[in-house]
Amino acid sequence: MSVDVAIIGGGISGLTTAYQLQRAGHKVAVLERQVRTGGNAISERSGGFLMEHGPSSLNAGAEAAVALSGKLGLNDQRCALGAGVRYRYLVGQSRVDRLSPHPHGVLNSNYLSMRGRLRMLAECLVAARTDGTEESIADFWSRRFGQEFSDRVIDPLVGGLFAGSASAMSVDAVFGALLEMEEHYGSISRGIFQRRLAGGSMPGRRLFSWRTGMGALPTALAKQLGPAIHTGIVVRRIRATPGSFRVETGTSGTVNARAVVIATQPHVASTLFQGVDDAAAQAAAAISAPPLAVVFLGYRREQVAHPLDGLGWLSPSHEKRVVSGTLFSSTMFPGRAPKGHVALAAYVGGARAPELARQAPEELVVLAHAEHRELLGVKGEPVITKIRQWPRGLPQYNLGHRDRIATIQGIEKRLPGLFVTGNYFTGPAVATCIAQAAETADRIHDFLSERGQHKSDIPTTAVNTIQ
Ligand SMILES: Cc1cc2nc3c(=O)[nH]c(=O)nc-3n(C[C@H](O)[C@H](O)[C@H](O)COP(=O)(O)OP(=O)(O)OC[C@H]3O[C@@H](n4cnc5c(N)ncnc54)[C@H](O)[C@@H]3O)c2cc1C
Repeated sequence: MSVDVAIIGGGISGLTTAYQLQRAGHKVAVLERQVRTGGNAISERSGGFLMEHGPSSLNAGAEAAVALSGKLGLNDQRCALGAGVRYRYLVGQSRVDRLSPHPHGVLNSNYLSMRGRLRMLAECLVAARTDGTEESIADFWSRRFGQEFSDRVIDPLVGGLFAGSASAMSVDAVFGALLEMEEHYGSISRGIFQRRLAGGSMPGRRLFSWRTGMGALPTALAKQLGPAIHTGIVVRRIRATPGSFRVETGTSGTVNARAVVIATQPHVASTLFQGVDDAAAQAAAAISAPPLAVVFLGYRREQVAHPLDGLGWLSPSHEKRVVSGTLFSSTMFPGRAPKGHVALAAYVGGARAPELARQAPEELVVLAHAEHRELLGVKGEPVITKIRQWPRGLPQYNLGHRDRIATIQGIEKRLPGLFVTGNYFTGPAVATCIAQAAETADRIHDFLSERGQHKSDIPTTAVNTIQ
């Protein structure tokens, strides 16, 4: 088979890249090792419940994702967060504390001590840091807003959003915009205030999904791509020859392509880079993605004492709970549980406690159910349980991440025609992957257009094999 672009990996990143290139008139082939496309994005219906094995929502403020939903004709089944989502809950001293999602929610609650809240208010007096050395998320927030805020608010947030550890993750790689704010305004609170005065809006956390769940997105993309999708194909090696690439798939033959995109998890990209670009291979191998388990539990409404009037709860690591957070799935979006029932999705593992995610599924159910009994006043047994264990969950944007990414992206210059995209470049959120994939597609389009006129020389190299 010969195509303009071979895309390795049929997750959201690979599918979006392929879709944009196909729309631009290029012949593409998506090569996906699983029997289905979508990667992390899997929605499963069972007994009237809808379980999300991976992502459960997208940021409604993300333009590329919203535009893609429209282009794919998915807007008529889009759903916004339910009206029942009024609060956020954080665990403190073994109970869930209710916070308003308003920016002053933490200041107006008793979740932090008076001393902790006064320290938050003193942020505008803290001198900006100018030495330019990389800092962890925990260090940044405790330096600016105090240790208590960092430990009890930021730490659980990092656990929930990235399945990560605030003391290991790089503030530069994750909250780069805040560093710019510190540099420009001297303080984060002053920066927010000034931007508000100037009529600017702060990035919001309005979320959306689709009635049939997040799986609607890869399904719609795959439908548009039609015969360009090839599932059950494991790419083992890429060989660069003058003017083109040969993508080798073992028993499924070879695909010849003018350009190739690696849209897999970083450990797979690392294997494909080995022997050809050892620096990129090493950098990609250094991006860990600790195991993560999603424990989906359905209950009859009357079994749960808690009003479930929020997004869910998150727990700081010092609480040492098995579950790092639980989403109130049936409050978030309609159709996640049958009438008279509720659906909860508990997250276990990640960087905080990777070994917990590897426990036997029945054990995970017992542990998650026990947490719900204690924190949400659940009685009796769940009416449905579903477990998804991801051996590799979310990529960790740990200290040094920016340098690693620069090294990996450098391969696009070192080996023209080879491109990389995925959830370890600009953020793991689906909406960010979509934006990143669209940018990758633009770069490839430019490359192919230029090469139509002047054929560039590509060295003959084996890009490598996956065992
Ligand atoms: C439990 C969980 C919850 C999440 N929750 C949210 C959320 O609520 N909101 C949000 O925005 N994001 C969330 N995310 C993050 C988001 O889902 C992912 O970052 C995103 O879906 C990644 O897409 P991707 O295409 O980059 O990678 P992947 O989905 O990992 O896709 C990579 C694809 O490459 C394929 N592949 C690998 N090796 C080969 C090979 N050799 N040959 C061919 N194909 C190969 C894989 O099979 C896979 O399909 C969550 C993730 C997880 C795991």
